[in-house]
Amino acid sequence: MSGFGFSEEQEMFRRTARDFAQRELAPGAKERAKMEEYPREMLNKMGDAGLMGLGAPTKYGGQGADWVTLGIGVEELAKVDMCAALSLTNSALLKVVMTQCSEDLRQKYLAAAVKGECSACLVITEPHCGSDAAAIKTKAIRDGDYYIINGEKTAVTGGMSGDVAMFAAKTDPTLGARGVTFFLVPLDLPGISKSRIPDMGWQPMSGASLFFDDVRLPIEYRLSEEGKGFYMMMGQFDVLRVFLSLIPLGLAQASLEDAINYAKQRTAFGQPIARFEGVSFKIAEHATWIEAARLLCYRTLWLADQGLPHTKESAMCKWLCPVVAYDAIHDALLIHGHVAYSEEYPIEQRLRDTIGYEFTDGTAQVMKIIIARQLIGKEFRPY
Ligand SMILES: Cc1cc2nc3c(=O)[nH]c(=O)nc-3n(C[C@H](O)[C@H](O)[C@H](O)COP(=O)(O)OP(=O)(O)OC[C@H]3O[C@@H](n4cnc5c(N)ncnc54)[C@H](O)[C@@H]3O)c2cc1C
Repeated sequence: MSGFGFSEEQEMFRRTARDFAQRELAPGAKERAKMEEYPREMLNKMGDAGLMGLGAPTKYGGQGADWVTLGIGVEELAKVDMCAALSLTNSALLKVVMTQCSEDLRQKYLAAAVKGECSACLVITEPHCGSDAAAIKTKAIRDGDYYIINGEKTAVTGGMSGDVAMFAAKTDPTLGARGVTFFLVPLDLPGISKSRIPDMGWQPMSGASLFFDDVRLPIEYRLSEEGKGFYMMMGQFDVLRVFLSLIPLGLAQASLEDAINYAKQRTAFGQPIARFEGVSFKIAEHATWIEAARLLCYRTLWLADQGLPHTKESAMCKWLCPVVAYDAIHDALLIHGHVAYSEEYPIEQRLRDTIGYEFTDGTAQVMKIIIARQLIGKEFRPY
């Protein structure tokens, strides 16, 4: 092996991101986590600090950072303000999908996203299907220079406040995966309506249902070739899964640090509870699991940076990390005793938020299908 760890620049960026999070995001983070909408000025602050454009090309005001550096940003923000980390993730995804579209659209949306002035959301799931994404029914039917969109989407993170959707629909409803096409859809087009879903976590960016009623979308907003949208989603979204793994790990790390501080101060039976091995061993075990899961995430991002295959590894991250995080946060809450079973402490919120990561962008079962398919072979798929 030659070299194992972060570069000097990446370590420096971690310190910068951490300082930003402490200075700009920590004040009011607990209150913001209960709001119905994530304040736009926070996105602007992240834009001003160069975070929203971390992965975007310099041509659009971005910094052209590698995936590992983006992962560092996502992890550090997640420790302090989960929705900030989610916003960073969505903006990184926008950069990926916009490699396919016209220069005009990139100037309009990517340049605005970099400044924190345009928030993007991913719109795939429908009421009747989530895991089986090829079964979507929303239609985008070509009519001259437009597509006419009809259908219903749901569970859209940040859908109520999003400006633009990275959107999957069937251009050929008679086909399965081969009928899916990917679009960019401005969410202020006539014919689009929204309704908020009262989710148990992620409140400021909680799910929305989006309804499309004869929406006319100009053809230049198509991001994939017709019928190639499913493969675009599958191929290009692998890094997204790693970011969605690092966020719960950030929540877990913050909870573990809270638990360590609390255990040093709280006394029971005449001594700090940190002296009891029933407490300290839990801390040691969770620190080990978190570190192992982080290494898997960063190795996967490193593979992506090298242009090497990383689909299996990103699926491994995506099922493992929320489980590791949930267990760590649960025990961190128990170490705090009754006080953390209250909204006064951020841990109950982190626990509810972490469950969301067990679903978003594919459940553990779907991730294991991907891993097993690579390990055992496509011919042993169940369908
Ligand atoms: C917090 C949160 C945020 C989300 N954000 C977005 C978003 O921004 N955009 C978006 O489009 N969607 C979003 N989703 C939706 C998410 O992608 C879906 O919830 C997920 O893909 C699962 O789909 P489903 O909920 O319809 O469950 P289903 O597909 O109905 O599955 C139900 C259960 O059956 C299991 N199952 C299904 N198929 C198999 C199989 N072949 N083998 C074994 N088990 C199986 C699943 O693992 C699951 O436990 C979000 C969801 C949550 C909870």
